[in-house]
This record gives sequence, C-alpha cells and structure tokens, in this order.
Amino acid sequence: MLEYFKRLYAKDSLSFYEEVEKSLKNKRRMFIVTANPETFSYGEKSENFNKLLLDQKTTLIPDGIGIVKAARMLKFNVKERITGIDLATKLLEICNKNKYKLCLIGAKEEVLQSLIAIINKNYPNIKLGTCENGYINNKDSYFEKIKKEKPDVCLVALGIPNQEELIYKHIEKFEKGVFVGVGGSFDVLSGSKKRAPKLIQKMNIEWLYRIIKEPKRIKRFYNNNVKFIFKVKKLKNL
Ligand code: UDP
Repeated sequence: MLEYFKRLYAKDSLSFYEEVEKSLKNKRRMFIVTANPETFSYGEKSENFNKLLLDQKTTLIPDGIGIVKAARMLKFNVKERITGIDLATKLLEICNKNKYKLCLIGAKEEVLQSLIAIINKNYPNIKLGTCENGYINNKDSYFEKIKKEKPDVCLVALGIPNQEELIYKHIEKFEKGVFVGVGGSFDVLSGSKKRAPKLIQKMNIEWLYRIIKEPKRIKRFYNNNVKFIFKVKKLKNL
C-alpha cells in the first residue's frame, strides 16, 4: 500500500487543475484515479487494479479525507483533497471554455439525460460525443464508438472498480484525452442527489453525510475504511 501513497498527487487542487488544462491544450493523454481508502483496498485485492494504480501513466489524486489523513500520518506531504466531483465540475468549465468534446458514460438513463440537459443549458460550448448510461452489459462497445470520436474529456461514472478497469482496458487506443472515473458525480451534477452542505464538506465529514443519507453504505464503509485505518497504523509502526 505504501507504493500507492508515494504516487499520490501532493500539490493543491488549483495546481492540479492547471496541469489538467495544460495536458488538454497539449493534446496529451491522462488517466486520473480519484483515490479513497476503497481504491487502495481494491489495489491490494486485485492484480489488475494494483497494476493500474502503479502504472506510471496513471495519475492518483487524493479524493477522500481518509487518504489525506493517512498520507500525513505516513509522512507524505499531501496538500489537500481533490475530489472527483470538484474535478468533474472543473472539467465541465474547461470543456465549455475551450469548446472541447466530452463523452459521458455511466449512471441511470434518467440521471444521464438530466445531466445532458444541464450541460446543454449551462455549458453550451461543450461538444457532446457519446453519452450512454451505465446499465448495459457490454460497456466495451462504448469505447469502440468513443475511439472514433477522439474526445478531449471522458467521464466514466460506473463506480469503483468497474470505471477504472474499463478505462484502463481501453486507454491505449487513445492518443489524447483526459479519462476519469467519477463515481456518483453524475447523480450530483444532474441534481438527482444533493452533495453535502458546504459546512459539512469543510468539516471533512462528507463521508458521514453520505452514510446518513444512504445507510446501505455502512457495510461498504466498514469493509474499506475501518480495515484501512488498521493497515495504516501498522505501516506507521514499521
Ligand atoms: N452505476 C452504473 N452502472 C452500474 C452500477 C453503478 O452506471 O452497473 C452508477 C450508479 O448509477 C452511480 C455510480 O455508478 O451513478 C456509482 O455511484 P456511487 O455513489 O456508488 O460511487 P462513489 O461516488 O461512492 O464511488
């Protein structure tokens, strides 16, 4: 797990957004993984996920507060959280400003349609390419279409680990483009789900808000976060 911490982006969010924008301007390719404790535990469980996290071409950003706190405990100098939802919002702004092409994969059909309507209204310069919901079996087929469209940005909202594995499987087909797995961001960006109020975000207890809103998350939280804390403590004592 230490290897994952070493690979975390350590500067502030503004610097990161600038790097992403530069990468887009220079038509480079970027695969961004938004890391939280669940991400690291998938890496430890799955050989393929471990490979994608350690790939030099993958950029790992600290999405969850658990990752930031753990990194600091282990003496890694990680500046702040850079969340998937903030990154997705920033990417919409960048795409709108530069008239970039955007593809959207994932979420339920009605969520996706609401998001498309919001993009058409609030980000009118974005050129939308493939937009498909995340509930068909053969999601690889989407990438055959996307490959021909050569998008600047592709947001994949299928949840971990599917979104990262799908991107990683196909990314070599692309010469340029920013590809990110954004979890439940489409639900929030479309207005289908509310993000925690600003104060709760500031207090770094957004995770608690999500559990209270969706109690079925508790098992997932326990399995990934509680075990994660023990592992980090062990690493700290090495
Ligand atoms: N999802 C999907 N296809 C699936 C399973 C999930 O498109 O087969 C979508 C789901 O609708 C949601 C997102 O993936 O929009 C995952 O959201 P979740 O809140 O679990 O992600 P988190 O932000 O917690 O990683």
